[in-house]
Amino acid sequence: MQRFVLAGLSHETNTFSPQPTTLGRFGRSEDESGLLHGPEAIAGMAGTRTPVGGFLDILEGHDAELVVPLVASAVPSGRVTDESYETMAGRITDAVAAGADAVFLSLHGAMVTDSHDDAEGELLRRIRAIDPDIPIAVALDFHLGMSPELCRNATVVTGFRTYPHIDTYETAQRAGGTLLRALAGEVEPVISWGVLPLMTNMLNQTPLRQPMKDIMDRAIAAEADNEVLTASVFGGFPLSDIPHTGLSVIVVSDGDKAAGDALRDELLDLAWERRADFIHDFEPMTASIARATSVPVGPVVLHDHGDNCGAGGVTDVMSVLGECLHQGLDDIVAGPYRDPEAAAILINAGVGATVTLDLGGKVDMPARGLTGQPMSMTGTVTAVADGRYKVTGPMMTGMAMNLGPCAVLNIGPALVIVCTDPLEPFDVDFYDVLGIDPTEHRILLIKSRQHFRAVFEPIAQEIIGVAGPGVCSEDYSVVEFERIRRPMYPMDLDTPKTVIGN
Ligand SMILES: [Zn+2]
Repeated sequence: MQRFVLAGLSHETNTFSPQPTTLGRFGRSEDESGLLHGPEAIAGMAGTRTPVGGFLDILEGHDAELVVPLVASAVPSGRVTDESYETMAGRITDAVAAGADAVFLSLHGAMVTDSHDDAEGELLRRIRAIDPDIPIAVALDFHLGMSPELCRNATVVTGFRTYPHIDTYETAQRAGGTLLRALAGEVEPVISWGVLPLMTNMLNQTPLRQPMKDIMDRAIAAEADNEVLTASVFGGFPLSDIPHTGLSVIVVSDGDKAAGDALRDELLDLAWERRADFIHDFEPMTASIARATSVPVGPVVLHDHGDNCGAGGVTDVMSVLGECLHQGLDDIVAGPYRDPEAAAILINAGVGATVTLDLGGKVDMPARGLTGQPMSMTGTVTAVADGRYKVTGPMMTGMAMNLGPCAVLNIGPALVIVCTDPLEPFDVDFYDVLGIDPTEHRILLIKSRQHFRAVFEPIAQEIIGVAGPGVCSEDYSVVEFERIRRPMYPMDLDTPKTVIGN
């Protein structure tokens, strides 16, 4: 019987974040015992619309022993510690070393560790060193930092085609399905890849809109028409100050490198021609909030994209709420803000208690020259909860989520949600946990860049982005990069089109 290794290891590393990423952010404890694996991992991920859920479904029914040494993902934050990485990567390589006929991996593609700028490439290099011929399928996030090691050592690579990421399940099925066809001798995957010196702004890179829509549509059509086996375009993750940041393409052809190269070049050309459209024009925070004051009916979604934990934000920067109150907005639901100490104070006080406390501002952000600024407030505790729920929205449907112990403080103009663990609101289910109906309020102030749209767009009268301060700020005129490839567009407007690839 064949033996398949299936594993998930996912982290989007914001190298500007002051928070190191330790094992506890991937599992239930700071030691190895808290990592999900084996039958428990299979039970937890089965039926979810996630990459691991997609792999599980496509592998079901195959006459193979399925080994799951690790399913671990952490909310974006700073570099992953070497100890954590070695522990998790070691789980996967040990499973391969014990004997495997194929490997199926759900990785992010933007994981950076203390020692490795390219943690996924390093993992694949280690697997390939154990078995030079083993077939490896990899499903990746759209926010990829593509590296030669990754492309050289994988057999099939696919990436998310959506942002918000609502096709993560399908992405794994495309990778896994193609690898299964290769194992059966039906196809012969050959990778063509390339990276542009182009840093897209995350506010302008979703395939829902131009210019990415045309580029992604061409990749999808090429795959649908069987021009190639798979074609993936990656917007890149610009909050990683590492050498392989940039917009990239991977095409997997059926034994026809020339066809794969031609499509890769076509997709990269499309992106390069429209590179100016990937630049974002930033509006000052005060002006964005002022626009909200003139919208007649709510809910108005104000999304603070400067401190979004979904891209590595510390989630306790209070500036945007402060400015909303300063400008006289009311009927606001704000948060969640991550502040474990404040959450504990509110929970201990209990529902109905009046509490005065300093919220947020506990974390300094030296890479951006920012110091934490707590916000003093007084209010009444209106709800407390354990913060656990399951996602019903279209992104990561069925996943168990956890805000940790959390509470709501009513300070008059705002209901302020305070939590223990960081969580980007890519669904509205967390409001339920705290007894809040988001449709009944005028302003929904959240910290998110793009993922909120799948569920907030249908309930919002208006959506206004707010460039709050934080480690997710993408105003490249103020962010200091030291290690990215140069020249890089748009930092260097006269950058020539030089593609790194195969
Ligand atoms: Zn992503």
